[in-house]
Amino acid sequence: MDRRSFLASGAALAAVASARAALAASDNPLLVAWAGAYGGLPPFDKVRLPDFEPAYREAMALQRAELKAITDNRATPTFENTILAYERSGQALGNVGTIYGVHTSVVITPEMQAIEERLAPVLAAYADEQTQNTALFARIDAVYQARETAGLTPEQQRLAWVYHNNFVQSGARLNAADKTRLAAINLRLADLYTAFSKNLLSDENGDVLVLDKAQDTAGLPASVVAAARAAAERRKLPGRWVIENNGSAMNPMLTFSIRRDLRQKAWEMRMGLGDHTGGPTDNKPVIREILKLRAERSKLLGYPTFAHWRVADRMARTPENAIALMEALLKPAIARMGEEVADMKAIAAREGDKAAAADLQPWDYRHYAEKVRKAKYDIDEAELKPYLQLDRMKEAMFWVAGQVYGLSFKRIKGVPVPHPDIETWEVRGPDGRHRGVWYFDAFARPEKQSGAWCSEYRSQGRFPEASTVLVSNNCNFTKPPAGQPCLLSWSDVTVALFHEFGHAIHALNSDVTYRTLAGANVTWDYVEFPSQIMERWALTPEVLSRFALHATTGKPMPKALADKLRAAKTFNQGFLTARQLSAAMLDMKLHLAGDADIDLDAFYQAEVKRIGLPKEAELAPRLTWFSHVFSGESYAAGYYSYAWAETLTADAWEVFLEAGGPYDKAVGKRLHDTVMSVGNTVSADEAFRNFRGRDVRVAAILRDRGFPVPA
Ligand SMILES: [Zn+2]
Repeated sequence: MDRRSFLASGAALAAVASARAALAASDNPLLVAWAGAYGGLPPFDKVRLPDFEPAYREAMALQRAELKAITDNRATPTFENTILAYERSGQALGNVGTIYGVHTSVVITPEMQAIEERLAPVLAAYADEQTQNTALFARIDAVYQARETAGLTPEQQRLAWVYHNNFVQSGARLNAADKTRLAAINLRLADLYTAFSKNLLSDENGDVLVLDKAQDTAGLPASVVAAARAAAERRKLPGRWVIENNGSAMNPMLTFSIRRDLRQKAWEMRMGLGDHTGGPTDNKPVIREILKLRAERSKLLGYPTFAHWRVADRMARTPENAIALMEALLKPAIARMGEEVADMKAIAAREGDKAAAADLQPWDYRHYAEKVRKAKYDIDEAELKPYLQLDRMKEAMFWVAGQVYGLSFKRIKGVPVPHPDIETWEVRGPDGRHRGVWYFDAFARPEKQSGAWCSEYRSQGRFPEASTVLVSNNCNFTKPPAGQPCLLSWSDVTVALFHEFGHAIHALNSDVTYRTLAGANVTWDYVEFPSQIMERWALTPEVLSRFALHATTGKPMPKALADKLRAAKTFNQGFLTARQLSAAMLDMKLHLAGDADIDLDAFYQAEVKRIGLPKEAELAPRLTWFSHVFSGESYAAGYYSYAWAETLTADAWEVFLEAGGPYDKAVGKRLHDTVMSVGNTVSADEAFRNFRGRDVRVAAILRDRGFPVPA
């Protein structure tokens, strides 16, 4: 660091010092620097909920003073006095945010929800305050423009680009009037996203399927019937059954009910969410306004449409690139769907269901798909589960991380955790040196968010001082009674364990200078590649024979069962791919339409027809309940990201298969060196090319899903 570049004003530096002193004197545990082993650990054991709001206030005050010291600096903007000074600012704020983020996902109590509601607008406004800081942007811009002549390393140039791009994409270059309009649009959009979710929630609660007679539940598994009975009781409908209008209740109804009339009723109820034209919960006017505002904002920011703005700094770069990939996958998927439907109709005919055999409807799809699955692959969940014990599968993940990346895991105690069930493990690298701590929160609790996810508490970096990784994996498995093993389904193993562990491994393998560029801080359509590729090792014979051991006999999974599991990989892929990509295509096309007046129904029908989507597949989220795209922004014009990353994953996996197999040492090292360790220090397409030796191609994913590959 060049000291001469710090000619900050005395008043600004005094303000920083006094804000630091206020923090140091505070008895708020959220503001105390993380202490203890492993480079300091978040004090989860000391946090009280009323501490959050004052902690945020003080940490923001400190960063405001730090930023003022940067902008008051009279010296010429340099990488050191601007970018690095910004990079090192806000550490206390980041620490508060980390613990806050954990609480908003694993300690969801009414008190916490109330705090969240109060803090949400404060945090959003604070983010705007930074990107609208004209003096700060002017300095960042000066450093960025001079980046190639200032003697910066490639990583430093990349960091300057990341900061510059974030500011520009958020409107830092706009004049005052346009900035005011932008802020007003953002505010209105935030309200519309909330309105969209509220309408949906209201319809989900109101539009439920009530079953009056026992025979209406015919075909449903006992657990589904029991859940429907409990739902009816909650709704004061004793003696009846209620199928709630969410995926986890509706999907079993559509799969297992043998009553075609009731399946149709359920399907129509599900499709109609948010679509009660003219009613108080109609989401169509909400969507139209969202699309118009997104289009207006993108124009302000200098892009033809929202779709162009959204993908400009992602790996796809242009909407056309994303669409080209979708088109390449859609055609073979729809062709495969034709074969899948033929299989289903044959079963319907054999079972004497003449109506479905002649004209399979969308409400028949899941029902007959399940029958085909049983007939063709004959996998019995009950037979499979005893081989998939949580503890063994965890060992399997550690073993794979050891084989491929040389990482080792050792259980440790005494680390503060948000709940006593959470385990902690120390992670060491191939050289035996400490890499980080892995937190594992396996079990469901009433106050915990559903699903599985990975979150990073501290990123790797070497600036301003060396920091090691703190990262957690979170699942929602049902906790078994004491002394009994926790048994998993195959999708638990791949999606909840190996996939999320892949994100953690991405963080733990990071080897960069600046934390902002570390590990998984990469672009949206690329971040799932390192996690999806981790899933691939779960199905290798090495893992299954060593770790898929029967809970009572201890014997490894029989080869026949493992073979069935592998064969079932391509099952129903036509339908699943067609459904996901038709939704992604609709999302992209809507956002390419600019601010045109759109009749949503007509747009939907026309696009489905253009794609050639068979009507049986019409289980895609309808626009009126497409939450990914309309209850927020991350996936808007970004739903293609799943398919994009899966294409990278399939293509990359073939490098292992073309070499010595999944455990080929040289290929594993190359994956580490070009992808897993470099974070965002190089662009995603460059990192992929460095690993693959060329740009991505679609042939691998077509093969992977069992689709024909065009010559
Ligand atoms: Zn993921």
